[in-house]
Amino acid sequence: MNSLYPIFLNALKPFFIGKDARDLDLLLEKVYIYNLNFRLSGMALGIPLATIEFAILDMLGRIANKSIGRLIGKIHHPRVAVYQATEYREKSVEESLELIKRDVAKYNAHAVKIKVGGLMFMTKDINAVGPKGRTEKIIPLIRKTFGDKMALYADANGFYSVDEAIRVGKLLEEYGYGFFEEPVLFDWYEENKQVADALTIPIAGGEQQYSLHGFRWLIANDGLQIVQPDNYYFGGMIRSMKVARMAQAFGKACTPHMSGGGLGYLYMIHFVSALGNASAHHEFKGLGTNVRFECKTSPLSVADGKIKVPTGPGLGVEIDPDFIKKHDAVKG
Ligand SMILES: [Mg+2]
Repeated sequence: MNSLYPIFLNALKPFFIGKDARDLDLLLEKVYIYNLNFRLSGMALGIPLATIEFAILDMLGRIANKSIGRLIGKIHHPRVAVYQATEYREKSVEESLELIKRDVAKYNAHAVKIKVGGLMFMTKDINAVGPKGRTEKIIPLIRKTFGDKMALYADANGFYSVDEAIRVGKLLEEYGYGFFEEPVLFDWYEENKQVADALTIPIAGGEQQYSLHGFRWLIANDGLQIVQPDNYYFGGMIRSMKVARMAQAFGKACTPHMSGGGLGYLYMIHFVSALGNASAHHEFKGLGTNVRFECKTSPLSVADGKIKVPTGPGLGVEIDPDFIKKHDAVKG
């Protein structure tokens, strides 16, 4: 939002002011036409739009005395099972292992996702591809370290060619990984399908996908077995739920993508609470946040691999008024 707030102020806010919040579903379609906003499709439009949608859902929930999950569906999961998402693809196998063990121990996770492939998003060197042979070593090592009871997942962030993705996918199959995320670039639809057709491990993806029709193609043509819309990037929970329900119609699962920080994990668990086709575990990057708030209906901790979803109205939390007072409204 540091970068995108002008879109919030100029392209979205004027559309919503004066509208009836009860028409939210329709408004979320029309706002893409307003001001030719579809030209900003992707995170640029999705993130500021999601912040508006979340606030409206919180408000409607407080009026109707329903949690956000009950507003967007019915409650299937009062507790949400999480997988610990880890990074470290630029680090050596040994260093990665120690950091992954630390992350898993922090919340006593029952499931963990590792990075495979070498793309180094976090460094300034776009040509670097990470330590050689890391992927081939770390896939079996993580299974050996955590044992057969731990659910394992792997994410390539679109790093591979089709042939390389199939080669790594077979290794993931050999060691019993639960899904292979973004084996090739997200918008290489045919290539996603080629990888999916060649492997038995489910292919997951969707965190970069900004188009409902893009998801529709990938679902209908079996390019993905698990859809991962991001509640923020994709423009909110209602749009994300449409993706989940398209997937459900084809017998496929949904596990939303999420970023760490803020209240992202709270939005994630509310969304998953209402998913009829939830995967076994959901992305989790820790409970750390700078936002000061209170929740009366959940300890918001990970117990036995699960987080209890707040049952209070709206988001189910009260943000500390003093925390809010410290902030100023952003003006154009
Ligand atoms: Mg990912």
